[in-house]
Amino acid sequence: MWQSPEPLLFEMSSPGRTAFSLPELDVPETPLPNDLVRDEVDLPEISELELVRHYLRLSQKNFSIDTHFYPLGSCTMKYNPKVNETAAGLEGFARTHPFQPEEMVQGNLELMYRLQEALKEIAGFAGISLQPAAGAHGEFAGVLIMRAYHLDRGDTQRIKMLIPDSAHGTNPASVAMSGFEAVEIPSDQRGNVDLAALKAACNDTVVGLMLTNPNTLGLFEEQISEVIDTIHACGGLVYGDGANLNALMGVARPGDLGFDVMHFNLHKTFTTPHGGGGPGSGPVGVNQKLAPFLPGPIVNRGADEYRLVMPEKSIGRLKAFHGNFGMLIRAFTYVMMMGEDGLREATLNAVLNANYLKARLEKVYPVKYNRTCMHEFVAMGNIADSIHTMDIAKRLIDYGFHPPTVYFPLIVHEALMIEPTETESKETLDRFVDALLKIAEEARNDPDLLHTAPHTTPVTRLDEVSAARKPVLCFKG
Ligand SMILES: *Cc1c(COP(=O)(O)O)cnc(C)c1O
Repeated sequence: MWQSPEPLLFEMSSPGRTAFSLPELDVPETPLPNDLVRDEVDLPEISELELVRHYLRLSQKNFSIDTHFYPLGSCTMKYNPKVNETAAGLEGFARTHPFQPEEMVQGNLELMYRLQEALKEIAGFAGISLQPAAGAHGEFAGVLIMRAYHLDRGDTQRIKMLIPDSAHGTNPASVAMSGFEAVEIPSDQRGNVDLAALKAACNDTVVGLMLTNPNTLGLFEEQISEVIDTIHACGGLVYGDGANLNALMGVARPGDLGFDVMHFNLHKTFTTPHGGGGPGSGPVGVNQKLAPFLPGPIVNRGADEYRLVMPEKSIGRLKAFHGNFGMLIRAFTYVMMMGEDGLREATLNAVLNANYLKARLEKVYPVKYNRTCMHEFVAMGNIADSIHTMDIAKRLIDYGFHPPTVYFPLIVHEALMIEPTETESKETLDRFVDALLKIAEEARNDPDLLHTAPHTTPVTRLDEVSAARKPVLCFKG
């Protein structure tokens, strides 16, 4: 990482300095209303040049996919192609107003329709709604669809959602938000759902199962058919957390495997930007029997026009207007640019890259559930006495790498969850492995170097809990 030789100063104020100059007053001086003038706001006084340098330097301290390798497990931080931005910036898209009547925005509706069709084809579903604004929002939609389906059949005693212990935290949260009870199902020795425990938990109070496949260990569920059949046999539905679709696209379709409903993360699998809180996009896909319950409006194609329609028994609207339309344009651009073969190749390379990293690292960073992985794998960072995963993660920053996801999933002690994505070169992957191997040497020879890392950043080891709970938002220290 390029380092500014000048320290990042925050106390830059010098009385009387300004970043502006105004022409001499040529109108009568009039005082501002009292409540607009607050003398106690002690703003910094600095020149324009100092101001520009301060913010530019700050921006250069950021990690981003455009500047650094970003192997954040379960997040799919793949490259965001710049052509997506060009497409989203086209005037016809960027300048439409959500209140324009349907006949004036046929092109926008066509794009939404064609994206719905593409997602159906990619994942094997009968219906898609583009409404949800994030993965977790898509989960919430999916769980409400499951509830609506059961209630519509007059089946009112189903209150429990089964969730494997390898699930993302948003799964139980979505269940709680929907008024259901989450029941945890353990994983077995190979990192699959424990079938015996699943069977024992299945009865007519079960809404369904929320399953991530591949799961957050980066492992394909080896008994997927038995798992799905078990749930269906007791009248439940199977929800697929599709955040890990980057491992399946073009190779296997969740709809064909028997999933009833699933969300996509366009900001993971389909290259729309994420981080910084959005905007994201989490379309939800369903099979034929759940299609009437989709949130709406969705886009239908009539004889010679595209129309917004509300599905017959829709759970309703989840988002103002038509979802995060800008994200839909970017995802559509990506899908069209890649085509069927390109999407499949992306998946194959994502899986290849993860297995390559695993093969080079597993002797030094043990992998608890060690079998051929999909798009990510979970190693462990407690590789020497007194060394924890957090030390490894912080030291990686000194080598110019964004740390992987740490301490998740919870079922792996000292977890270090690595997802390289398909968009990285072998050279980058090798540099990352070399850094991790070097850090492992340091861990043995000079553990304090790791305990106090990072050393190259303006602030070093933070108290992360206080930083999150009591953030200092003032420019002054
Ligand atoms: C990212 C992720 C989610 C949540 O998606 P958001 O868009 O962040 O709300 C859910 N499940 C898994 C497995 C994920 O990786």
